[in-house]
Amino acid sequence: MSVKLGCIADDFTGATDLAGLLARSGVPVSLRIGLPAEPPETAETAPFEVIALKCRTAPVADAVAETRAALDWLRRAGAERFFWKYCSTFDSTAEGNIGPVAEALMVDLGTDQTIYCPAFPENGRSIYMGNLFVGQVPLAESPMKDHPLTPMRDSNLMRLLAPQVSGAVGLADRLTIARGASAVRERLAALKADGTPHVIVDAVADEDLANIAEAVQDWPLITGGSALAMPLPGLYKASGQLAADVESGDRPKLGTGSIVLSGSCSAMTRQQVAQYLQFAQGYRLDPLMLAKEGADAALDWLKAQDPDAPKIIYATAEPEDVKAAQAELGVAQAGEIVEAALAGLACAARDMGISRFVSAGGETSGAVTKALGVARLTIGAEIAPGVPWTFARSEGRDIALALKSGNFGSVDFFATAFEKLEVS
Ligand code: ADP
Repeated sequence: MSVKLGCIADDFTGATDLAGLLARSGVPVSLRIGLPAEPPETAETAPFEVIALKCRTAPVADAVAETRAALDWLRRAGAERFFWKYCSTFDSTAEGNIGPVAEALMVDLGTDQTIYCPAFPENGRSIYMGNLFVGQVPLAESPMKDHPLTPMRDSNLMRLLAPQVSGAVGLADRLTIARGASAVRERLAALKADGTPHVIVDAVADEDLANIAEAVQDWPLITGGSALAMPLPGLYKASGQLAADVESGDRPKLGTGSIVLSGSCSAMTRQQVAQYLQFAQGYRLDPLMLAKEGADAALDWLKAQDPDAPKIIYATAEPEDVKAAQAELGVAQAGEIVEAALAGLACAARDMGISRFVSAGGETSGAVTKALGVARLTIGAEIAPGVPWTFARSEGRDIALALKSGNFGSVDFFATAFEKLEVS
C-alpha cells in the first residue's frame, strides 16, 4: 500500500508508542527498526510507516544525517508528508537534536514552517503558553530535571528550542488553539508572514490536538509527540486520502507457546513480575551468577518447560540487589550481561517453537528484538497505552512481540497481554 505518512522517531520505545497510537484507528502501521536495509522501491509498505532511530542523544551531525537518510527512504517509498517524533518531555540537550533535525528536514522538503507539539494529555503532558507540564508540575520541576542524559532544567519550549535552531521561534497559544482549526491556520499564517519558521503549539487536551492536526494535516512536516499524530488517520480517511475501509491485514497464524522476558527493574515491572509469578513458572537471573557461569542453567530450565505453560525469566530485582550487582560488576557490565542472557534465551525460546513474547524493559526490548533478527514489526492490538502487540518474522517463523518499557502497563500486564492476543 502506498505510504501516506512517513514518521521518524528518535528512539525505539517512542516509535512503538507512536505506531500503537496510529494503529488505534485500525489502519495498517509498520515499524522499522533502524534505517531499512531493504530498498523502499521493493519493500512491502503500509500507509503509516514509522522508522525507529536511536538518535536522541547522538551528536547533532549524526542525528541529522540519520534522519535525512530515513526521510529519503520514506520519500522514495512514496510518502509526501512526514512526522518527526520526539519525547513528550522534549528530551534534548542544549545542542539538540530536536531543532537541528527539524531544520534539516525542512530544507530537504523545501518547506519554510513547522510546528512543535510534544503534548500528550492522556499521559499528563500538556503545554500552556509555551510551557510544558508533566502532570501538575512544570517540566523543570518534574523528575526529568535529573535525567542522566537529557536533564530538562527549563519548562519553556520556546527558550528550549531557540538555541537549537537558526530561525525565529513563535507561539500559537491555547486561546487560539481552542477556537478551532481555522483559528490555528490563521495564527500559523500570520507567524509565517512575520518570518517565523518554528512554532511551539499549546495543547492541554485531546480536542486541542484534534484542532492542530486538522489545521496542519497537509503540511509536508509536522513535529511533536506521538499524541499529535493520533488524529491523522481519521483525518486522512475523512478527506478521502485514505480509503475509509482500509484495515490492517490479517495477523499471522502463530504457533504455540509463550514467554515473558523481563530485564526491567522499574517499580511497575517489579509489581508485574511478582503478580505473574503467582501462577506462572519463573526463573530468576542473577547477574553475578551469569557473570561467573553464563546462562546455561537458565537455558536448561527453559528447555525443561512446557512451551505452552505460562513462564517468565526475569532479572527484575529490588534496587538494593541491583546496586549490589552494579557495585560488583559495574553498571554497564551488569546491564549488558543481563541483556545478553535475555537475548540468547529469546532465541532459544523461538527455536523451541515459542511464538508469543513479552519483553519488559526499553533496553531489554532493544536487545531482544535485535537478537531475534527483527527488522520490521506490524502493529496489532493495544494492550495498554503505548504498548501494542506487534508481529514479526524471526528466522522464518511468525512471532508476536509485546515490548514494554519501564513503568508502562498495570499490575496484571503480562496475563492481560496474552489474553488480548488471543481475542484480537
Ligand atoms: P526500563 O525500561 O525499566 O528502564 P531497561 O531494560 O531499559 O528497563 O533497563 C534496565 C537495565 O537494567 C538493563 O540494562 C538490564 O540489563 C539491567 N538489569 C536488569 N536486571 C538487573 C539486575 N538484577 N542487576 C543489575 N542490572 C540489571
